Amino acid sequence: MLGNIRIVLVETTHPGNIGAVARAMKNMCLERLVLVNPRHYPSAEATARASGAHALLANARVCASLDEALAGCRLAAGSSARLRSVEWPQYEPRECAERLLGEAGQGEVALVFGRESSGLTNAELDRCRYLVHIPSNEAYSSLNLSQAVQVLSYELLMAHRAGKAMVEEEREVVPLEEMEGFYRHLEQAMEEVGFSDPRQSNKLQRRLRRLFFRARPDKDELNILRGFLSAAQGRKSMRRKGGGEA
Ligand code: SAH
Repeated sequence: MLGNIRIVLVETTHPGNIGAVARAMKNMCLERLVLVNPRHYPSAEATARASGAHALLANARVCASLDEALAGCRLAAGSSARLRSVEWPQYEPRECAERLLGEAGQGEVALVFGRESSGLTNAELDRCRYLVHIPSNEAYSSLNLSQAVQVLSYELLMAHRAGKAMVEEEREVVPLEEMEGFYRHLEQAMEEVGFSDPRQSNKLQRRLRRLFFRARPDKDELNILRGFLSAAQGRKSMRRKGGGEA
């Protein structure tokens, strides 16, 4: 199960943090590190801070975007130093670990960490099914990146050892990249048929993501929805051509 968990670091600035994350992961029996646009990497400082976890660091995958890093995953969780106002489900580390393990028993999952300076953007959090926040001093809640990885990895290992995997529902779901394709299609179709205004659609799209996060469509269900969207778009262009109602 632990082997199905990716630790994803988005645009890390300090290479020392990347090395320290590799070390923290190896301590806690995690193996798969994914780096999205790291500022300085590879780097001698990262290697030095990785200490005995050189191999894990050397195997880290470097990606150009978060979407690329999440490809193949059935779920992503976002780690946030701030309690967010967005109405995303938010768990404490222990519960997050148990939920992630439950999903990892069925396929690949990702735990995503943000930039040292500014964390994760809203668009990045939109890819995450839920958030995890490490309880801390409300007036000083931001941990060092590698220490945040350490705490959450520790909870993952503890949950694994205790056999505490929380399985929400056991079934096939489409991978995140296909859901992203669907969301793009949905947004486009809603604009084309005149349902939503592109300038205001961010909020709407976020609510719809929430709806589909809860529903978690399988492949057949997603195909029906995409077929419907294509048909709606096609009808619109027919109307345009014919100048009247189809
Ligand atoms: N200044 C940033 C914090 C960046 S710390 C901000 O305000 O968002 C770098 C990353 O470490 C964060 O994006 C998050 O993934 C993780 N992190 C730090 N403190 C955390 C906490 N208390 N709970 C969960 N994740 C935390």
